[in-house]
Amino acid sequence: MARRAAIGARRRPAASALAAGLAAAVLGGALSTLAALPAWAASALSAWRINSDGVLELRTSPGVPLQAYFEEGTGGRGPRLWIDLPGAPIRPRTVSGGGALREVRIGKPDPSTTRLVLEFLPGTRLDPRQLRLVGTARDRWRMEISGLRSGSLLAVGEGDVDAAPTWTARRSPRLGAAPGFVPSGPPPSAEDLPQVPRGRFRVVIDPGHGGPDPGAVGIGGLRETDVVLDVSLQAARLLQARGVQVLLTRTTEVDVDLPPRVTLANSSGADVFVSVHANALSMERPDVNGIETFYFAGGRSQSLAEAIQQQLMAISPGTPDRGARPGRFFVIRRTVMPSALAEMGFVTGEVDAPRLADPAYRRRLAQALAAGILNYLGAS
Ligand code: ZN
Repeated sequence: MARRAAIGARRRPAASALAAGLAAAVLGGALSTLAALPAWAASALSAWRINSDGVLELRTSPGVPLQAYFEEGTGGRGPRLWIDLPGAPIRPRTVSGGGALREVRIGKPDPSTTRLVLEFLPGTRLDPRQLRLVGTARDRWRMEISGLRSGSLLAVGEGDVDAAPTWTARRSPRLGAAPGFVPSGPPPSAEDLPQVPRGRFRVVIDPGHGGPDPGAVGIGGLRETDVVLDVSLQAARLLQARGVQVLLTRTTEVDVDLPPRVTLANSSGADVFVSVHANALSMERPDVNGIETFYFAGGRSQSLAEAIQQQLMAISPGTPDRGARPGRFFVIRRTVMPSALAEMGFVTGEVDAPRLADPAYRRRLAQALAAGILNYLGAS
């Protein structure tokens, strides 16, 4: 029997989760354009290419889920990897490969699916544990097919993988008018928030964890992922109401790995990156509570962290102020703009947990987070 594996299923099942996370990450009316594909583009696959070093890149419709699979070679057949996308191709076809890549097929396994198949020569050795399809933008994907010798393929592809990212093309001056992603109901009030020049700033908010990765789980089953998503979405809305463009690294319960979060941030031209988390310790330590905000580098990131920490503490009397502190978390270490990571309390803490479970407190947290960011932007 051929061994078949869903790629990326080692630790996270996340090919599709990555897709959803990044696809949903852009505010500004993007969602409303999803249906506006040209008539010929029934398939979500817009362009693909594989270079001579075995790097596969895809451009897809924004917001589509992808699934990637691998099957080892058997008999006279080489290993295959394939990616399923929504929508059927108008014209199933085969493109000859070169080197270790025998051919690429664009097939239609069922009437609503496009299957991009890469078939390698018999005897080609690929390690499925090294294969991972990574969403690098809401419509971009990349997989390094490791195990191949550098230069062992002939570069092939179809379409323009490098077409301008759709979200920058759709940048809207009406930043507060983004439909479609935030929970319904009245928006939290932005009235008391600091003012900054409208339309000047762009902020990336990174709700930590998500999907199968709940982050910390604390008292009463309180999940970090739920807390941080709720606060992040509300903070995004408040910032939008102040004329700040906001990108979220995820807007739903999906898992996005850390590098794509950083890639999204670094390619966004954002002024500020803020990762939103809640802390946890053992359930035996309900006595440990407090709020802290991390920065990697001093200077502007430190100012940002201090501005956020001050606002979070202002609405959280009675919990320890653990301060704005240096930290080495990946997302703040690797982002190129001023960045901070807020830990808004301990889901395992007897003071913090009941608050974090309270929607009214989470609304105040969102306001505090937005106020801290706006204070920083206003002073910068
Ligand atoms: Zn966390």
